Amino acid sequence: MNPSRSAAALHRTWAEIDLGALRHNLAAVRAHLGAAVRIMAVVKANAYGHGIGPVVRTLAGQVEMLGVANLREAGEVRAHVADVPVFILGPALPEERAAIAAQRFIPAICSLEEARAYSALAGPEPLAVHLKIDTGMGRVGIWESEAVAVAREILALPGLRVTGLASHLPVADEDDAFTRAQLAHFHRTVGELRALGLAPPVVHVENSAGIIGFPAQAEDMVRAGLMLYGSAPRPEFQPRLRAVMTWKTRITLLRTAPAGHGISYGRTFKTTQPTRVATLAVGYADGYQRHLSGRGAEVLIRGRRCPVLGRVTMDQIMADVTALPDMPLGEEVVLLGRQGTEEILAAELATKAGTIAWEIFTGVGPRVDRVYL
Ligand SMILES: *Cc1c(COP(=O)(O)O)cnc(C)c1O
Repeated sequence: MNPSRSAAALHRTWAEIDLGALRHNLAAVRAHLGAAVRIMAVVKANAYGHGIGPVVRTLAGQVEMLGVANLREAGEVRAHVADVPVFILGPALPEERAAIAAQRFIPAICSLEEARAYSALAGPEPLAVHLKIDTGMGRVGIWESEAVAVAREILALPGLRVTGLASHLPVADEDDAFTRAQLAHFHRTVGELRALGLAPPVVHVENSAGIIGFPAQAEDMVRAGLMLYGSAPRPEFQPRLRAVMTWKTRITLLRTAPAGHGISYGRTFKTTQPTRVATLAVGYADGYQRHLSGRGAEVLIRGRRCPVLGRVTMDQIMADVTALPDMPLGEEVVLLGRQGTEEILAAELATKAGTIAWEIFTGVGPRVDRVYL
């Protein structure tokens, strides 16, 4: 660490966001699908923790649509990029609908009641909406069995232009047989809806796992989230992606614990020999999950994997650095990402924490500075 750097400019715990890697991953998705398939980049939850502004400014002009979870996120996107269509993935609250209509965000319509409400809110220009069909997810959408009947009523409403049909895949990374059947069924339903006069709507159903596993069933557009950030929900695609986030912290204290000394709350870990212990400036309040306690989690220091010792605390963790030479305080530590020839993927942390890569990224908290490369 450069001692001349001021404390204010110094990051204790930060995430370096490689926007070049984001562009690389988008190109990998395009190459996999072919140029005819449009891409909606899913940037909900602060772009999966990567920071909404820089991410959407990088993607603007490169993707056909941006997907968010709710009205507030749609507004954040619009504040950064004016001209990319913004799709809201889930249902809005009734009170939010007027603002969605006024700002021309594209809602996912899941019921006739919603469609009637948007129809009443439409001005002289018809409102673009997408119909969401539930083909197996069991979360939102018009039941597939009712889709044709409901769509017929929606198409008769004034003020709406149905510009898209959507569905979602619950097991695209777990059950290929179900997913293949679901995609085929959805494709047939889309055909029936097109016969009602919906042509030519954009049709989208695939998330990252669907894109990787079923590129030939991608319809007109996909909704790519996780893979754009460099994490593949199906491991066969991981070599084609680059991690966008490198999450770092620093050593704040170095001590040698004697043999038989407990480390951290609960004293679940005890040294068996004199152990060089580094205390690090990150904890579960930053998003380094407490479930990583005692689960074989490692951090990278000087290009080597170092075991995390004992329980993760709110603001600090401890790592075994006995194998490393003496280091200055402030030494950089990688929690997620690459250092030298070693790399810790989000999937590795997720497996050890008993969760999924999506939650690792979205869990990286506001106390972690984002630094854009
Ligand atoms: C979050 C989300 C996506 C993106 O999923 P990934 O697995 O991150 O690619 C796609 N569609 C819907 C409806 C979502 O909620």
